[in-house]
Amino acid sequence: MKLFECQECGQVLRFENRRCERCTHLLGFIPEQTTLSALEPADDDMWRALAMPDTLWRFCDNAAWDVCNWLVPADWPERFCVACRHNRTVPDLSDAENLRKWRKMEVASHRLFYTLLQLRLPTPNVADDPARGLAFDFLADPADGKVLTGHDDGLITVALQEADDAEREMRRTQMGEPYRTLLGHFRHEVGHYYWDRLIADANGFEACRAVFGDEREDYDAALKRHYSEGVPADWQMHFVSAYATTHPWEDFAETWAHYLHIVDCLETARAFGLEVHPEIAADDLFHAQVKIDPYQAGGFAQLIEVWLPLTFALNAMNRSMGLNDLYPFILSPDAIAKLSFVHDLVHAPRQ
Ligand SMILES: [Zn+2]
Ligand SMILES: [Zn+2]
Ligand SMILES: [Zn+2]
Repeated sequence: MKLFECQECGQVLRFENRRCERCTHLLGFIPEQTTLSALEPADDDMWRALAMPDTLWRFCDNAAWDVCNWLVPADWPERFCVACRHNRTVPDLSDAENLRKWRKMEVASHRLFYTLLQLRLPTPNVADDPARGLAFDFLADPADGKVLTGHDDGLITVALQEADDAEREMRRTQMGEPYRTLLGHFRHEVGHYYWDRLIADANGFEACRAVFGDEREDYDAALKRHYSEGVPADWQMHFVSAYATTHPWEDFAETWAHYLHIVDCLETARAFGLEVHPEIAADDLFHAQVKIDPYQAGGFAQLIEVWLPLTFALNAMNRSMGLNDLYPFILSPDAIAKLSFVHDLVHAPRQ
């Protein structure tokens, strides 16, 4: 994620900020420019953005719930921004607890869409493309059961309960996962969506199978086997995570999520001018200066070269605070080859 700057007063701003704390200008995010802009009021609930003054803007309708700070051009027929227009179902907002959880969901969702915009990936909703659109259901648990987070043919269901930190942490521990976050869920599930779009629709099966294995393997049987027999002992030699061993679809989605983690973290590191140069390590493996724009990298090798030393340092920082590692994963050469595949896929020319 970039750091942003107030066009009026130069204050450093963060992605979720709604108002500049120094000059008190209201702020709105312009997806077309992936930038946050200070706003001046115009007529009829419209705004002039200092970053793009020739256009009049409105806030996304979800701003009314304080879950979105993205702008929509005033002459668009759309009421929702390019992120929120994918929401098919939101929870019952007369329940204050639902609203609190949905706000956390939308923080993760907007960060996901930011990265998709930066990667110039297509994000049609079901109005744009009924057969191939992307949609989200944010569902509270019914009285007699639990909602399962997952993807089905463009529809991503997210269990609202995952926004409860204690509940999510309990699930993380029960599943033996080193990492479980809302943003991680969004990045994983959208990985299934992009498998459909960039592999299946483009008839890219063979190249994908050569890297991730044959996805025609029975999915339900694979899931059952995963939960009854556990993971292969040498999984770290071949997969980004234990869950990726389940089935080639899950391997792809997990790898996709990691790719999004990596490009986002590297953009943040670059925005802060991060460098790591440990005094005692002569080995190049521990040294990095994050100069590259991860969205413009020619190959994944350029990213992994800085990612490994950076995570070594950031994991050590987290341990200094008594926290779990920032990136609690080891990337084997096979896992790096899978991440390279995703990098090339994302950057391949599309129709
Ligand atoms: Zn300001
Ligand atoms: Zn919105
Ligand atoms: Zn999955």
